[in-house]
Amino acid sequence: MKIRTRRFEGRCAKHKTYNPAVDGREAIRGSCPRCALLAEIWETSLRLNSLIRKFNPNHDDLQRPPQPENPPDPRQMNLLDG
Ligand SMILES: [Zn+2]
Repeated sequence: MKIRTRRFEGRCAKHKTYNPAVDGREAIRGSCPRCALLAEIWETSLRLNSLIRKFNPNHDDLQRPPQPENPPDPRQMNLLDG
């Protein structure tokens, strides 16, 4: 099964700056059907991701760069030492 191999570069012609991933549904102007469709595509892709993770928790197709561990905060250490 091969899914989610393509990048979707959809943009509303009227609202080129609208990005459902960033702006959410609240930012859709005048209930624009194209923007609403973009939002639906985005929400569906999120749902697909969560379903895939539910099936295989080790699967991560986002390929996030490894997060560096936060160095211990000295103030917090002092608080703990009390
Ligand atoms: Zn639009």
